[in-house]
Amino acid sequence: MALTCKQCGTNIPAPSEDQSWARCPNCQTVMNLSEAESFSDLSQVGAFLPPGMKLRRLSDGLQLTYNWFNPSYLGLAFMALVWTGAIVGGFNDFGWWLLVVPHFWVGVGMGAVALINLINRTRITITPDKLSIVHFPIPFPFYRRFDPILLKQLYVREVKHQHKSSVSYTYDLYVTTWSGRSHKLVSKIKATHLALALEKEIERFLGIKDQSMPGEFRWLSERENRQLWQTWQGLAKALSLKFDPGPFLEKSMVAGVYRGYNLQVAAFYSSQHRRACTRIQLAPASPPLEASPRFTPEDLPDLPLSSQQILSLLTSGDIPREKGAQIKVSADAQKIYYEHSQIIADVQQLRQMCDWVVNLAEGYAKLRAIGAEAVPALETLAAKPEHVLNAAARQLIQDIAADTTTRLGHQPDSFYCRRCLTRCAAHTGQVTLIKTVTYYGCRTCRQSRALLEWIGPVVAVLDSRMTEKWVEQAGAVRVNWLLQRVLFDFEAVEIVQASDEDIERFAVQVGNDTDPLRQPYYKEMSCRIGLSCHLSDNSLRVLRSIFGSVERGPLLADVSETATDDRREIEDQEQSVSGSIAAS
Ligand SMILES: [Zn+2]
Ligand SMILES: [Zn+2]
Ligand SMILES: [Zn+2]
Repeated sequence: MALTCKQCGTNIPAPSEDQSWARCPNCQTVMNLSEAESFSDLSQVGAFLPPGMKLRRLSDGLQLTYNWFNPSYLGLAFMALVWTGAIVGGFNDFGWWLLVVPHFWVGVGMGAVALINLINRTRITITPDKLSIVHFPIPFPFYRRFDPILLKQLYVREVKHQHKSSVSYTYDLYVTTWSGRSHKLVSKIKATHLALALEKEIERFLGIKDQSMPGEFRWLSERENRQLWQTWQGLAKALSLKFDPGPFLEKSMVAGVYRGYNLQVAAFYSSQHRRACTRIQLAPASPPLEASPRFTPEDLPDLPLSSQQILSLLTSGDIPREKGAQIKVSADAQKIYYEHSQIIADVQQLRQMCDWVVNLAEGYAKLRAIGAEAVPALETLAAKPEHVLNAAARQLIQDIAADTTTRLGHQPDSFYCRRCLTRCAAHTGQVTLIKTVTYYGCRTCRQSRALLEWIGPVVAVLDSRMTEKWVEQAGAVRVNWLLQRVLFDFEAVEIVQASDEDIERFAVQVGNDTDPLRQPYYKEMSCRIGLSCHLSDNSLRVLRSIFGSVERGPLLADVSETATDDRREIEDQEQSVSGSIAAS
């Protein structure tokens, strides 16, 4: 399935994540990649992809990759290092005899086991004619392949490992063939959700209808089974969703379109809690119409949003405070997961949660559109690991960074904030203690949604007759300081018509400006005073002390109002008037 745009024929890079649509980079046309995926058959809905697992669509198949990373092996890796280090160090030099010291081999063995469990990955590739399993970079266990046509059903088994003082569990993925034999496809999978996601995605790709198998891993008690059956049906009815009982209740789900989102509610087994939990999964029902929804300038409030306003947009007020509740967000909020550490048997409570997750998705989209301005408030959430919205805030900062970088990153200097008329600049967003991202927004207020793109000069104009906040004229943007009343980024000053009082205010602001990008340039800046503007000597002196050059001269306004021939005449008059002011 090589992806080319139906509109313009451009090659479209295949989305690497579990994304059911792709956007043409050239004409922005959105294509649905899974026309077959409809909610009429819920068993064909994609599995929840746990962290550490990736699904990639190939031109003729599917590739599932997951890493083995298990932090509990960090200790063993350290021990192996110390152990071999001590042996090698103890003998003070290397030699072939090391190879006959059994202690050395114990150290190497420990190291290898630790390394495999830290860095190894498994990749399962399925095409119509083969299913292959490789482990890399350390090829252990060995490569295996199957002919998909022989496969009848996949299922997961739990394996209990009894240690001296503890018990641990791993999961094996089995396959039965049409001849009735069972093969172990992948063994020692650390987490249930990995194993179950593999089963589901492989069955989905091969078109195998999931069936119950003897010895298959089940985790719901009789009581939970009865409860859930009723709850799922109640929820489906209340929210007009579909209930798919699956081969058994562990694999059942309630799904459908709710408030514009694809909603899925299911029970899952948490290896961590060793009990059934609830997961609500949300994805936009249709791809966003625009890559980055923009605000119209009218949407921009005069004042920056307070961090409280920003956070209330994200949560629309209420946050579920249940212990053990977790929210995960995939890039661009293509998927939002809400996990509750228990089975919820109350339909009303489940309904509330569904609404809450949809509210969050809407808030997320709003803040993403607001952009850079929201980052400082989000950073306070990102710094609280215990906060239920921590992961959402961290993802949102990264999404905003990616979006503003594409839009403004190539030339932040040529974008001016509509609110402050200062240029955009790079800011640093703190995602975690050690991870930062670069995002772009106004240097002063950080907003990134209402900007003016302009590469020419900007002139600060003091003209009491000017009614516009700013105009584009003769290759320059002329900004009315008398209306703006605060400093912005400009390259030149024109005083057309202003009182000494205004000049003083303006001069005080410029004199006290601490902006590191603007401050050094005032000494080189030219300030032109209109021929018909009368200023006191004191005002002129103040202006001369601030700007590089202060001169009277025909301004754009003078030239446009009078013919070029008349200019000298006005100039003469002007000089005589200013002379008389000086004399009086
Ligand atoms: Zn296209
Ligand atoms: Zn199955
Ligand atoms: Zn601004």
